[in-house]
Amino acid sequence: MKRFLLSACAAALVFGAAPALAQVGTPALPRPLPAIPEPQDRAYPGTIGYHVDATDLDHRVIRVQQSIPVTVGDLTLLYPKFIPGNHAATGPIQLLAGLTVTANGQRIEWLRDTLDPYAFHLAIPAGVTQIEVAFEWLTQPDNAVWRVVMTPEMVNLQWEKALLYPAGYAHSRITFQPSIQLPAGWQYGVAMDTVSFEGGRATFAPISLEMLADSPMFAGAHYRRIDIDPGGRSPIHLNIVADSAANIAPTPAWIEAYGTLVDQADRLFGARHFDRYEFLLGLTSRMGGIGLEHHRSSENTAPPGFFTDGITRNFGSRTLLPHEYVHSWNGKFRRPSDQLTPNLNEPVQNTLLWVYEGQTEYWGDVLTGRSGLATKEEMLSNFAEIAAFYDNQPGRDWRALQDTTNHNLLGYRTSNPWPSHMRGTGDYYREAALIWLDADTLIREATDNRKSLDDFARAFFGVDDGVWSPKPYTFDDLVAALNGVHPHDWAGFLRTRLDAVGPEASAPLDGITRGGYRLVYVDSLTAAEKQVQTGWANDFQYSLGFSLGGPTNRIGGIVWGGLAYQAGLGAGWDLVAVNDRAASAEVLREAVTAAKSGTTPITLIIRNGDRFRTVSFDYRGGLRYPRLERIEGTPDRLGDVLTARRR
Ligand SMILES: [Zn+2]
Repeated sequence: MKRFLLSACAAALVFGAAPALAQVGTPALPRPLPAIPEPQDRAYPGTIGYHVDATDLDHRVIRVQQSIPVTVGDLTLLYPKFIPGNHAATGPIQLLAGLTVTANGQRIEWLRDTLDPYAFHLAIPAGVTQIEVAFEWLTQPDNAVWRVVMTPEMVNLQWEKALLYPAGYAHSRITFQPSIQLPAGWQYGVAMDTVSFEGGRATFAPISLEMLADSPMFAGAHYRRIDIDPGGRSPIHLNIVADSAANIAPTPAWIEAYGTLVDQADRLFGARHFDRYEFLLGLTSRMGGIGLEHHRSSENTAPPGFFTDGITRNFGSRTLLPHEYVHSWNGKFRRPSDQLTPNLNEPVQNTLLWVYEGQTEYWGDVLTGRSGLATKEEMLSNFAEIAAFYDNQPGRDWRALQDTTNHNLLGYRTSNPWPSHMRGTGDYYREAALIWLDADTLIREATDNRKSLDDFARAFFGVDDGVWSPKPYTFDDLVAALNGVHPHDWAGFLRTRLDAVGPEASAPLDGITRGGYRLVYVDSLTAAEKQVQTGWANDFQYSLGFSLGGPTNRIGGIVWGGLAYQAGLGAGWDLVAVNDRAASAEVLREAVTAAKSGTTPITLIIRNGDRFRTVSFDYRGGLRYPRLERIEGTPDRLGDVLTARRR
């Protein structure tokens, strides 16, 4: 998903000898704790039996049973900490309860590590060759902290959040034999090989922990599976679960667009790195939203009416499947070497996330356009919104784009009342996409359109056709591949943009200009632009420097240093009145528009608890929404980027 020290030799990085944390100074424990064994590239003896019961929809509890072959002595079981695609220590250990371990009918008491709450130490007595592990995953009723994964109609099972595994082994060398009990009548989509499915119980072929953790399931009462690449070299299916059966109504136009997505990705990359691919799509307002990549599948959600609303609506959801699909090449097959960790508890590093996510964002948008899932006008509006956002981002003054990737280990869902100052944690998606547009148009210009970033994609991601073990890369590998397409100071090009910080630093907008467009601001948007800039009605970012939200007209997203900031507004204020009229976004839009040709200031009454204030803005700039305007007489390179490949 979204946000990451380099080593020329991934194997050295992965299996290097990091010192084990010594467990010292714990005299208050019932017994001394051993160190947690480092993962070694060796096979775990035997197969771990693994059964999940996902039928308790009333309590939203997922019950887990594991049969783990063991030998006498110390054993450490780990709960996955670094969830693939999260780029952070987000494993929800807080939701694991009821852990009991038995062998030969006798309890074996576990002891949690005092430094790492994801590790459980066991002392296996003589005569025991297998332990039975049972626990519950207490899934959540709302999306306040963790997302909802069980509803009356569907379950999104991410196996790695419902299992323990032995420390001391690479997760590619630990074999699980998974099975699941589903509610009666339910069906499922998953990129694993089903051995049997009877009475709601599905049993799968043995699979490595690495792949199991990368093969989530969407199951539901309302389900349909659609072949979107009939006769293709490897099967690709769209698996849909929905709150209601009526939601599962993709028209032929939708299915054709997804088929074109597959075709355009083939033409772009020139190789596939999977034996099958399963798009998992939940049409739901009840399950928590997700867009998460996997090597042979992806987890996606969209509004219930995604298909029935029509193909001109829900722009953001239309870009989701292309993004996650691109990750099969960028992120899963080509893997930053500092993310290719030996198990799910070794820390990842995120230094190349501006490739992993940034170039995926770029190709996802490009393929959305090339597949017909969005129009050229919509894609131009999308780039306008991104360009304007970063052109107005004050956080660049203290913090470079590169730093937003290093910060991500803290977790990708951190929020902050000053996102424009903090730079959020997502700039390595969208600002990095602008860098890749910059690189693409540079290559197109310098080679008179004979080459483009498409050639890089084919050279970098299109190698080793059919191979789907991860192929690590470093910054230097990336630069070498770019130089193979068009010789240039690519290291300097990238570092200049990634490390730009300080008062003189600016957003990477050269790709917009070289693409044949200039960023302008308009006071009204077209219907298509409103589908892209969905928050436009409440958005005063580029005028007064804030946005409105919620039933109380809460003033949020206050731009650091902007007009509202200068007027002393901070988090927590609600807009009560505008020029003596009851406040609404519409009333404020009217006032901003009227002030353009008037002489009186815009006066706002705002409230924070029992405090009221009046603030005035002597602002004459009117409403401002971003748009890309053609620079006549220049090549439409951005239009070329968005045009479907013919071969
Ligand atoms: Zn992503």
